[in-house]
Amino acid sequence: MRSGSVMLQSHIGIIGAGPGGLTLARLLQLQSIPFTIYDKDTSPSARTEGGSLDLQTESGQRALEAAGLMDQFNRVARYQGQDAKLLDKHGNIHIEHLST
Ligand SMILES: Cc1cc2nc3c(=O)[nH]c(=O)nc-3n(C[C@H](O)[C@H](O)[C@H](O)COP(=O)(O)OP(=O)(O)OC[C@H]3O[C@@H](n4cnc5c(N)ncnc54)[C@H](O)[C@@H]3O)c2cc1C
Repeated sequence: MRSGSVMLQSHIGIIGAGPGGLTLARLLQLQSIPFTIYDKDTSPSARTEGGSLDLQTESGQRALEAAGLMDQFNRVARYQGQDAKLLDKHGNIHIEHLST
């Protein structure tokens, strides 16, 4: 900052309190940058909640890591398998794809 100039503090407006907006808010919070989140929903219960988010290691989980939230994520994450099996009515397995 040059002597005599005025340091302007940014205040960020985030439109949307979905996963994207909330992650951005957390990243700004870690940098002590002030922000306000706006959402057209009047409360978290304004509409029914969707299902689980599928957070990939190279995208969603990287964002959570940058946000310093991996410990919290690991406490509540549910790991789901991607196995697929085709069985007949007797329970005999005809096709089996194991994800791991
Ligand atoms: C039917 C459906 C099923 C899905 N199923 C899955 C799934 O099983 N697993 C998965 O990982 N992902 C799923 N997704 C995708 C997942 O919902 C999105 O990836 C995720 O919600 C995107 O986050 P976002 O923050 O970008 O947007 P959003 O979650 O859409 O959040 C945007 C927010 O902005 C608010 N908003 C919008 N316009 C305005 C405005 N003008 N002013 C103020 N606020 C505004 C909205 O109210 C909302 O809260 C599904 C999506 C849909 C539509």
